[in-house]
Amino acid sequence: MIEVRNLTKVYQMGDERVAALDGVSLSIARGEHIAVIGPSGSGKSTLMNILGGLDRPDGGAYLFDGEDVSGFDDDELAHFRNQRIGFCFQSFQLLPRLTALQNVELPMIYGGWPPAQRRARAAEMLERVGLASRMGHRPTQMSGGQQQRVAIARALANSPDLLLADEPTGALDTHTTQEVLALFEELNRDGLTLVIVTHESEVADHAKRRIAFRDGQVVADDRSLAPA
Ligand code: ADP
Ligand code: ADP
Repeated sequence: MIEVRNLTKVYQMGDERVAALDGVSLSIARGEHIAVIGPSGSGKSTLMNILGGLDRPDGGAYLFDGEDVSGFDDDELAHFRNQRIGFCFQSFQLLPRLTALQNVELPMIYGGWPPAQRRARAAEMLERVGLASRMGHRPTQMSGGQQQRVAIARALANSPDLLLADEPTGALDTHTTQEVLALFEELNRDGLTLVIVTHESEVADHAKRRIAFRDGQVVADDRSLAPA
């Protein structure tokens, strides 16, 4: 599904040039469950932003189902992001004044769905993540684990090919982390491709493949738990 070759990204900070990505190459197949690990500042978020079409590389190639994403213009990139990618973040990024249902509807507004269908699909996604009884709640009326499940439901709304999660359990306690990990595993079993940035060994251990970054480079790529 994904082929990344010799990807580079350089940030200019005053006089200093920081290579956030320094020649990263990797392939991701449909249905994989990958953890991206490595110290702070090693380039993990930069890679996720490029994979998700939130940012562009300075060099190298990014192919998604054979299409050259690095050649997309802004509109094509926005469309790619909305239709092919689901995002979830440590801080959930839900809109506080909207209900769970309305939050899940958001990506479908961009997608141009008729309101009734949008609402039905949002309800279906909230059922999928076990929040059928919380559709009318606002984020502040929900626990962290519930909010992250709303964010996951939102990420799934447009049936993405790839779910990108940046420290999705970073703000959760042990119990709710387990809940979210169980949900990820279930989604992966149903065929969703997952790439999860994490500092937590518990989260990394759940993945079938671990890719380790250091100084903008891949230093380990461990498929030892990949199914035969
Ligand atoms: P990680 O996610 O592994 O913590 P990042 O991808 O966020 O790493 O950062 C990689 C490197 O790029 C770091 O040195 C960081 O300071 C730098 N960097 C990231 N984003 C920016 C930015 N917007 N401007 C300048 N430097 C940045
Ligand atoms: P913008 O163009 O300002 O990024 P969008 O209309 O694309 O806004 O998205 C509205 C909200 O839905 C944003 O909070 C965004 O993060 C979220 N969103 C958009 N597309 C997706 C998606 N494919 N998966 C998850 N969330 C998404």
